[in-house]
Amino acid sequence: MSIVWSSVTHLGRVRTINQDRVHPLNGGRSDETQLLIVADGMGGHVGGEIAATVAVETALRSEGSLEERIRQANRAIVEEAEGRPELTGMGTTLTLAEVGSDRRLRLAHVGDSRAYLLRSGVLIQLTTDHTLVAEYVAQGRLRADQTSNHPQRSLLTRALGLEAHLVVDIAEFSLREGDRLLLCSDGLNGMLSDREITDLLDGDSTEEAAWRLVEAANLAGGHDNITVLVADVG
Ligand code: CA
Repeated sequence: MSIVWSSVTHLGRVRTINQDRVHPLNGGRSDETQLLIVADGMGGHVGGEIAATVAVETALRSEGSLEERIRQANRAIVEEAEGRPELTGMGTTLTLAEVGSDRRLRLAHVGDSRAYLLRSGVLIQLTTDHTLVAEYVAQGRLRADQTSNHPQRSLLTRALGLEAHLVVDIAEFSLREGDRLLLCSDGLNGMLSDREITDLLDGDSTEEAAWRLVEAANLAGGHDNITVLVADVG
C-alpha cells in the first residue's frame, strides 16, 4: 500500500480570513498509516481559526481511536474558550480519515465537511452532513436539489466546541488500488455539484486535481474558504 496526497486551502473570494485547517498541509507520500484531517472553524473574531487549529493539533497528538481523538479535541476547544468571552460560541467541524497500511479507511466525523471516494469514475459521499437541511432531506421534508440555496444550509446540528457530550460518526471502508479520496470543507461542495466535483476530481495528479477543484469553486463565486485534500491509494 502507498498513499500520495495533495492539499490546498484557499481564502476564497469573499471572506477576509481563512478559518479552515487541513493536515497534512502540503503534498506527500507514505507507505505507512496516514491520517488526513479537515476542520472548518466558525465563530467571530479569531474564534473559528482557534477552534479549527486546536481541533487539528489535539487530534494529531491524542492517542486512542479516531472517535476518542475527536472527543479530546472537543474538550480542548471547550477548555480554550473558558474564561474568554470573546471566544464564546467558537466551534469547528472535524473530519478524520485514517488510511491504514492494510488499505482500510477509518473515518470519524462531526459537522458538514465531507469525505468522498472516487472509484472507477463514480463519486461516493462517505460522510453525512450534520446540518439542519440534511436532516430535512433525510426526513423527506426537503428534496436534495432544494438544499444548495436554502437560507439555513450552513446551520450545523453538530460541531466541536459547543457541548461536552458529542455524538461522533464513525465508519470503515475497504480501499482498493486506484481509489481516490477527497476531503473538503463546504466551501467546495457549497459551490459545486457532485457532478462537477466528479469531473474535476477525475484524472491527472492529486495536485492538479486539487487545484482544479479550488479554481472551479472560486470561479463559481468562492463564497467561503475552500479546502481540499486529494489522496490516491496505490
Ligand atoms: Ca465553511
